[in-house]
Amino acid sequence: MRQKLDHHYSAATRLAQALGYIDESSDGLVPPTYSSTTYLRDEDNQYRSGRVYSRADNPTYVPVERVLTSLEGGAESLLFSSGMAAATAVFQALQPGAHVIAPTVMYWALRAWLLGWAKSWGLQLSFVDTGNLDALKAAIRPTETQLIWLETPANPMWTVSDIEKICELAKAHEIYVAVDSTVATPLLTRPLELGADFVMHSATKYLNGHSDVIAGALVTGEINPLWERIRLVRKQGGAVLSPQDANQLLRGMRTMHLRVRESSRSALWLAEELQKSESVTEVLYPGLPSFPGHDVAKKQMHGGFSGMLSIRLKGGASAAIKVAAETRLWKRATSLGGVESLIEHRASIEGEGTPVPDDLLRLSVGIEDPRELLIDLLQAIDSAH
Ligand SMILES: *Cc1c(COP(=O)(O)O)cnc(C)c1O
Repeated sequence: MRQKLDHHYSAATRLAQALGYIDESSDGLVPPTYSSTTYLRDEDNQYRSGRVYSRADNPTYVPVERVLTSLEGGAESLLFSSGMAAATAVFQALQPGAHVIAPTVMYWALRAWLLGWAKSWGLQLSFVDTGNLDALKAAIRPTETQLIWLETPANPMWTVSDIEKICELAKAHEIYVAVDSTVATPLLTRPLELGADFVMHSATKYLNGHSDVIAGALVTGEINPLWERIRLVRKQGGAVLSPQDANQLLRGMRTMHLRVRESSRSALWLAEELQKSESVTEVLYPGLPSFPGHDVAKKQMHGGFSGMLSIRLKGGASAAIKVAAETRLWKRATSLGGVESLIEHRASIEGEGTPVPDDLLRLSVGIEDPRELLIDLLQAIDSAH
């Protein structure tokens, strides 16, 4: 595989050309999909190609992982069958007994997994407001804490955590830091440059961007012992992505810079406009100067504050559910980061025990005409109040 574009080229150019990829066997500009599950042994019984069976790895991943590694400024990436498979690989690579700190408000399915499976695996968990450095400091148990898991901005309140400051603190205690950067994307924030050890993406979201692939990825800043174990978790556990999905993911990634720029710009404008509505009691968006984490967001997010925001409504849960019911352009669906805008009453999907207020609607801003999105939402808010 020939590749030309190094990190001196902008992310836009590297993405559009998938690092300048040219297929060696055909001179094609689009990489092939390798569907073979098994590979030929050498006559002397060796496997010099390094490939044996595609539960471990697949050559279709190579260009995708290289683009991600390049964008994040990392040493190596691994694709997984979903964002959850990527995230849980990090925790599964820890030894039973290890203490882990994670955010109180975070991606709900991962929190649920931690409370169930991670606990039974023997991990000790502390959930803290990672936007509060003092709370985080207090939660560290010297010698026991092995991982701080961050998500910034975090679902669905968009709490911002100061990656650089937290990594300084973690380094002093020899604690690994992993960042779920799904919402920020490698375009807006580069956690490895701020000191993080690992970055996780649900590639289902902005990386693919078209709501038609479930995929996940991890990127490491260096090949350290925990990363070696993470590789084994994928190889032996088999949470691998299908080669067809890997190829389709790369196709989606080629336009990520355009989609993220457009979504972020529209989300900021919508956040500002929605603040003017009397029926909206609060707009949660890191790009608003009134948002508590705005200063940190400004420091570690470049080129936008993402396409994700939430609104809280007068009239509680019933008004919020009614607003979602009254929208036409905004689709009532879970997930985020696609070209189409989505609206969701998070408390309903998270269920009992959720820390999310029941008057909250989560908005994933797509790339439609933002004025039409605003008109649609305002008419829904009006008819619900
Ligand atoms: C969707 C999501 C995940 C899980 O990813 P899947 O691809 O759905 O498994 C994890 N973290 C965040 C922030 C997400 O939005």
